[in-house]
Amino acid sequence: MAHENKVAIIFTGGTISMKIDPRIHAAIPALSSEEIVAMVTNIEKFAEIEIINFANLPSPHITPEMMMELAKLVKETLKRDDITGVVVSHGTDTLEETAFLLDLTIKSEKPIVVVGAMRNSSELGYDGSSNLAAAICTAISKNARNKGVLVVMNNEVNAASEVTKTNTLTLDTFKSPEFGPLGIVDNDEVIFYRDIISRKHIETESIETKVGLIKCCPGMESDILDFYIDNDYKGIVIEALGRGNIPPAMVEGVKKAIYRGIPIVVVSRCPTGRVLDTYGYEGGGKHLRSLGVIFGNNLPGQKARIKLMLALSITKDFQTIRELFEN
Ligand code: ASP
Repeated sequence: MAHENKVAIIFTGGTISMKIDPRIHAAIPALSSEEIVAMVTNIEKFAEIEIINFANLPSPHITPEMMMELAKLVKETLKRDDITGVVVSHGTDTLEETAFLLDLTIKSEKPIVVVGAMRNSSELGYDGSSNLAAAICTAISKNARNKGVLVVMNNEVNAASEVTKTNTLTLDTFKSPEFGPLGIVDNDEVIFYRDIISRKHIETESIETKVGLIKCCPGMESDILDFYIDNDYKGIVIEALGRGNIPPAMVEGVKKAIYRGIPIVVVSRCPTGRVLDTYGYEGGGKHLRSLGVIFGNNLPGQKARIKLMLALSITKDFQTIRELFEN
């Protein structure tokens, strides 16, 4: 008899799929998906597992185009009646970008869970199997329906729209610094303590890849902005200072970009907090707003970039893009 729950696990690579290569003494992709699933002992009591191999790449090798291909595969898999939920296994370095892209582009009631590992399978305390077990439990949970894309690591459940990788090493690296986790996985059960705050959907099958990201620092000038403008970039995200302010010598570049029809989205390089038009001096938020800059709320630069890439695939209209970021 078929199991009442069937979970498709889409493997893309990452540390969860890695081993230390004895010749170079460093981790590289090496495990097959079957080997990884075999380490999740007793999982057959919870769900039937279907393995789907998408790639076996370290996540710094994953491109936005691949993320879109993955989104298409997740959508198709979720449409199947026999599938309860989908788990995506991914490297942790760019996991937040893939998870956010899936969250923005997929509308489904079924759970979608993104998971990875911080320790490879040659290390003591490999966390791949326990993370995968928790992800599968989340993917079959009725409580996890209608929650958008969830990131499950270290028995914590975070919303893809809020989560970020905060530490280069620790097992609890994935955090939602602004609002905290949505819930936990405890005793193979998912418990939610709060709901997702807000979700946006961008209906698109394509992505605009020419979107730049600049991190602001004191004394910065317009040269990087000029580079993006001259190289036909279609959008630019600036991780500005504090509340959303930039050094005055960058203002010329911002004006030039906007004049050429290139939207500028400003977020903050601070790990938490919104950007706002609080300051009226040259390069301050009020000045930037008067020039037509779009405010990216509390998103980190890398996630604002994903959102702008998707937005630009459907529109060039500043006002429509502004509504996606500011409302
Ligand atoms: N560098 C690895 C990757 O992102 C890190 C990991 O998976 O934890 O593929």
